[in-house]
Amino acid sequence: MASKGPALLLLVIAATAACFGATLATRRQTDASIPQTPTDDNALPVDRKAARKLTAVPAPDWLGERAFAHVKAVTAFGMRHPGTPGWSRQLDYIDTELRKAGLTPVRDTWTDRKERITFTNLHATIPGSSKERIALACHHDTKCTQGHQDPENNFHFVGANDGGSGVGLLLALAPVLQQRQNKASIDLIFFDGEESLDWRWGDGSRALFGSRRFVKRHRDKLLLGEEPPIRALVLLDMVGRTDLAIDEETKSTRSMREILWAAAVATGHQQHFFGTAQGASDDHVPFLEVGIPSVDLIDLASNPHWHKSTDTIENMSAASIQKVGEVVLTMLPAVEADHVVVPTAGGLESGR
Ligand SMILES: [Zn+2]
Repeated sequence: MASKGPALLLLVIAATAACFGATLATRRQTDASIPQTPTDDNALPVDRKAARKLTAVPAPDWLGERAFAHVKAVTAFGMRHPGTPGWSRQLDYIDTELRKAGLTPVRDTWTDRKERITFTNLHATIPGSSKERIALACHHDTKCTQGHQDPENNFHFVGANDGGSGVGLLLALAPVLQQRQNKASIDLIFFDGEESLDWRWGDGSRALFGSRRFVKRHRDKLLLGEEPPIRALVLLDMVGRTDLAIDEETKSTRSMREILWAAAVATGHQQHFFGTAQGASDDHVPFLEVGIPSVDLIDLASNPHWHKSTDTIENMSAASIQKVGEVVLTMLPAVEADHVVVPTAGGLESGR
């Protein structure tokens, strides 16, 4: 880009103004450098030896392949940050695939006044015995890699894992969860605007647009009695890398991390989990801030393709997504038992 001269560079910056005036290149901020104090009990790694025993829930053999095919389809749309053609096409794709699974997707589109960017969240609910909800979520936007001041931050980026993998797995899980006897109602949520508009995360004030919006609306509707509560969140962010390595994300609610670890053990996939422990700012943060127990399945600490042009389908595998799918399905009964009140003929019953 630099070799083509400043005129072209200016043109590119102008043409990609929607890409938000980002400046500096650093890794997404995590808390790895912030010492966790011993008093911060939640941040302490889970005691793996004391893990509860869960029964593995089998996933269909095709789950990983189906999810992988979805990832391939959405990455073929190219870059998918808000306002791009790929972003619109992906929203339509998610909508269509959810309808094929018999669900009714709901879009929430708004324009952030300060940023002057239009975002769209999309979600669908699968009914369960209880109206209380468990959210399974991902982000559908990809990191904007255009218009940044530092030339090294401008490149073609399709976000196969960072963006694509969560979308692919949630879409593949939709028909499976439709068949399941759900105790909780299951919300499948696709957040927009997770990625920081600035290249660096900073204080996160220019990121997490979709999840902050979703939680605020949920709180407002709860107060008005217009919708049942979300009792827990399982967030999927980068779950399909060939060399899958899901962190122990230490902002996540400890009891939810314990369920995640127990599910990884039950399914025999523990070698892909908790090799590293660190906190990450992600779409679970707004949920945590209002007291909703949440866990983030994120492959960040040792991921060489994160926010790189190499985050492509070639570095993804259906087998990895299959494993995460099995772990998520194995977690669900425990999350329901811990957090959801189920109505019975004689009244209410809870695993709590
Ligand atoms: Zn990202």
